[in-house]
Amino acid sequence: MTVASPTTGPAGAPVEEARRRRTFAVISHPDAGKSTLTEALALHAEVISAAGAVHGKGGRKGVTSDWMDMERERGISVTSAVLQFAYRDHVINLLDTPGHGDFSEDTYRVLAAVDAAVMLLDAARGLEPQTLKLFDVCRARGVPVLTFVNKWDRPGREPLELVDEVEQRIGLRPMPITWPVGIAGDFHGLVERADGTMRRFTRAAHGASRAAEEILDADRAAAEEGVDWERATEELELLGEIGADFDPVDFHAGTATPVMFGAALSNIGVARLLDALVELAPPPAPRPSAAGAERPIDAPFSGLVFKVQASMDKSHRDRVAFVRVCSGRFERGMVLTHDATGRPFATKYAQAMFGRDRSTIDEAFPGDIVGLVNANALRPGDTLWAEKPVTFPTIPSFAPEHFSVARVADASKTKQFRKGIEQLDSEGVIQVLSSDLRGDQAPVLAAVGPLQFEVVAARLADEFSAPIKLERLDYTLARRTDAAGVEALKGAIGIEVLTRRADGELLALFPHKWRLQAVAQNQPNLLLEPLIAEG
Ligand code: GDP
Repeated sequence: MTVASPTTGPAGAPVEEARRRRTFAVISHPDAGKSTLTEALALHAEVISAAGAVHGKGGRKGVTSDWMDMERERGISVTSAVLQFAYRDHVINLLDTPGHGDFSEDTYRVLAAVDAAVMLLDAARGLEPQTLKLFDVCRARGVPVLTFVNKWDRPGREPLELVDEVEQRIGLRPMPITWPVGIAGDFHGLVERADGTMRRFTRAAHGASRAAEEILDADRAAAEEGVDWERATEELELLGEIGADFDPVDFHAGTATPVMFGAALSNIGVARLLDALVELAPPPAPRPSAAGAERPIDAPFSGLVFKVQASMDKSHRDRVAFVRVCSGRFERGMVLTHDATGRPFATKYAQAMFGRDRSTIDEAFPGDIVGLVNANALRPGDTLWAEKPVTFPTIPSFAPEHFSVARVADASKTKQFRKGIEQLDSEGVIQVLSSDLRGDQAPVLAAVGPLQFEVVAARLADEFSAPIKLERLDYTLARRTDAAGVEALKGAIGIEVLTRRADGELLALFPHKWRLQAVAQNQPNLLLEPLIAEG
């Protein structure tokens, strides 16, 4: 296997290069097999862009992005890695998403940078709470979803029951692309729905290599697979009758989902998933600007910052902004404009990111992800452009549900504490709220999930030498309000209005929904607007 970037070939036109790109993320409940699937996908990759990061050599360490000690201890992935590889003349960009629900805001930002998502289900468990939550985010963002039913090599549920669950619980019409022959746990292969052939597998040991497979035509499959074949084809007929045929319009509109079956651990069905991504999933499309006009793919460069991350490498302590290329060609060294400030941004140190590993990237096209180092001014949701201005809609912040006051534990570290809070706020690790009353010595941290507080505390201690004390507040929900709201709620018991530093929004905090309801009833003209993604 040669190691070279698939994007460093002869310079292509952005439209042509965009057509070859598929940029997606996998959403799943923890343990459904996301890491295993990522490895299995990489087994089929022809080339991986990050130098030396050819998958399969270093085991799964190369894929996971557990750069913080806390992540390792807890076995969760807080940060996002990007994996780029070539497959069938296409360039696949796979963006990692955190597995834990407490970091769903981070996932939301990643989903702002993809063109499709793979919803990974455990065959025995079907839709799990975190899958549902993440699916809601896909729906909110209009991201088309492919479904991959994993772990078919062990006992699980009936395939019809699983597709029915998808339809009933999340209202996505299932459109099976493949169908299993043999029940979960005693699985022989997959029927290709489009042409009725069967792909039969001989399981490979521990996914170390691809499962051996052979293609059988329908007659041979019927003769050799007997009742299992009969059952699979009967079920498919049944699905055909209820209108489960593939329809690209419904898939791209997010109302229907192609469904595939497999076992990532044995690398079964994984190449089929890649084929489906290449053949069915949408390539990068012109992105609408905040003003509503679309930025054409072949317009001058534009990109969306969807994640900012610091100190992936303890010896560097720098800050990387992940930028999704939306239009044009990115060339390292170009000077871009940071739309939010109007300031120039030099891209001398553009990098391709692969977990902890980095390599210099020279050019990139729509759908690709570029890591920009020393990106101190950039925040998630920011736009960068060249030549012709554009502003993409920013990525909205989630509704926080947990609130704590942060104070520095050692008063001599006040300066570091302030700097640290400012940095973590601008990375989007947590929301920081303040008011004149509280002052900036004791900001209120607002989180979607409580693990975010632990990340903040660990990073402040570790990177800024400023250990903190946290005091939980009793609020559980926030509503957007305005200056009139601030006046009206002054002195209201158990309610506080704070300013969110990142976007200047005024958030009214309530201890519970009954208090909110009472206020809304008594003062019907008060602006108390729900924030997005309220759990
Ligand atoms: P993640 O938490 O979603 O990243 O899940 P992992 O990839 O870590 O997988 C969780 C567990 O399921 C691990 O023990 C895997 O070996 C196992 N696993 C993943 N895919 C399969 C599969 O296709 N078949 C079986 N039997 N086990 C699997």
